[in-house]
Amino acid sequence: MCNEKTPGELLAEKLTYRTRDAGEVLDPACLAEADAFCEDYKAFLDHAKIEREAVRTAIGRLKAAGYTEFDPGRSYRPGDRIYRNVRGKALVLATIGTEALDRGVHLVISHIDSPRLDLKPNPLYEDGGLALFKTHYYGGIKKYQWTAIPLALHGTVIRKDGTALEVAIGDEAGDPVFCVTDLLPHLARDQMGKTMKEGIRGEQLNIVAGSRPYPDEKVKDRVKLAVLALLHEKYGLVEADFLSAELTMVPAWKARDVGFDRSMIGAYGHDDKVCAYTALRAAMAVEHPAKTSVTVFADKEEIGSEGNTGLNSDFLKIFVEDLCAAQGAESRRTLTNSTCMSADVNAAFDPTFPEVAERGNTAYLNRGVVITKYTGAGGKSGTNDASAEFMHTVRTLLDRADIVWQTGELGAVDQGGGGTVAQFVAHMNVEVVDVGVPVLSMHAPFELVSKTDVFMTYRAFVEFLRS
Ligand code: MN
Ligand code: MN
Repeated sequence: MCNEKTPGELLAEKLTYRTRDAGEVLDPACLAEADAFCEDYKAFLDHAKIEREAVRTAIGRLKAAGYTEFDPGRSYRPGDRIYRNVRGKALVLATIGTEALDRGVHLVISHIDSPRLDLKPNPLYEDGGLALFKTHYYGGIKKYQWTAIPLALHGTVIRKDGTALEVAIGDEAGDPVFCVTDLLPHLARDQMGKTMKEGIRGEQLNIVAGSRPYPDEKVKDRVKLAVLALLHEKYGLVEADFLSAELTMVPAWKARDVGFDRSMIGAYGHDDKVCAYTALRAAMAVEHPAKTSVTVFADKEEIGSEGNTGLNSDFLKIFVEDLCAAQGAESRRTLTNSTCMSADVNAAFDPTFPEVAERGNTAYLNRGVVITKYTGAGGKSGTNDASAEFMHTVRTLLDRADIVWQTGELGAVDQGGGGTVAQFVAHMNVEVVDVGVPVLSMHAPFELVSKTDVFMTYRAFVEFLRS
C-alpha cells in the first residue's frame, strides 16, 4: 500500500519534464559499453591534436573500412562509401543511401580545430640568453591558463625545396617539451593587481625553445643560432622555412581518466574532437542508410569558420553539388530537403560557478547528449535557432531509441555567448540543430567530459543516420 503512487505523483509523472541521469538509469552492461567506447576515443585524441592529424587519422580508419576517395566522374550505388580530403585540414565523408539524393541527405557536421598557440610567421628570436618563439593565439583562450604547462609542437613546414615536414614533438615520454613562463609570486605584485584578461597579454605568450649557445663567440644571437643548427641538422630547415609553415603549440599531455570512478575523460581538444570522433564512429557504423549520410569535419570553427577549410566557405556545398551531379540529382533541392545535426559541444553546469548558468536550461555532466536549440549572444544574435518542427523530430528520434538526452543553453542570458557552424548550415537552407557533448573547462588546456555523455552522443548520431 505504501508503495502505491498518490494521484499527485502520478499526475506529476505524466505532465512534468525531467531530464534523466545516465549514471543512474543505465544498467552496468551499458555503462561498461560506454567505458569501452571511450578507450578508443582517448587513443584517437592522442593522435589528433590538430586538424591535419585528425584528417590523417580519420582517413586511415576510413580506408581500412572500405571508403575510397570521391571521384566526381563516377556514379555511386547504395552502400558505397566515399571521402573528400579538403586541403588536408577538413574532411567530408558520405555513405550513399537507397533513397534518391534530392529527397535530402543527413548531415552531421563537427569541427576538428581547437584553441591553441600558433607560432607567428617569423617566430624565432633570442633575448636574455634564451631562444624563444613568438606566438599568436588561435581561438578563444584564457591566456593565463597557457603559462607554465608543458607544450608540444605540432604542424607542417613546407621547406624551400617544396617538401613537407610533419612535426609532432613533445607528446612521447622521451621527447622534450616547450613552455610559456610566468612570473614568480614574489615579484608578481603588479601583475596580480591586473584583471585576469590583462595579467598575461598576447605578446607575453612566448615559448621557451632553447638556452645553450652555439660555441662561436664571433656570432651574435648564439642561442638562436644553436636552435637553428639543430633544426637544420635534424629536419633540413632554415629560418625562412617558418614563413611557409603552420606550426602550433598544444598541451603535451595525453587523454586521461578522471575521478576515482574513471567516469570522465580529461584531455586537450574535446571541443570538438569529441563530436568529430562520435560522428566518425556513427558514420562508419551505419553501413546501409536510406538517406545518404554526409559527415563533415570542418576546420577554423574556433576563429569563426573563416577561410577555405572553414564552413563559411563553399567546400561542403561544392561537395554536395559534385555528389548530385554524379547521381543525376539537383543540389538545390537536395539541400532544401536535408537535415543536419551540427555536432558541437556545449557548456556543462559547473557547481563552482553556478552564477553563469540558469539551472533549468543548462546541460549537466552525465545527463546525456545535449540538444542546443540556439547559441548566440545577447538577444540571440549570431545563431541558428532550430524550428519547433525539427526539435520535435529530434526529441522523438532520441526518445524512441531510449537515448539519455538533455537540453541546454550556452549559459544564462547576457552572460556572454558563442556560436557554432549551425548558422552556416542554415545558410544553405538546411534544417539544423546543435547536438553534442557537455564539457567542463571548455577551451582550457585540459577539458572534461563524461564517458556516458560521449556514448549517448554517438548513439544519437547513429539513430539520426538510420532515420
Ligand atoms: Mn566547438
Ligand atoms: Mn570552441
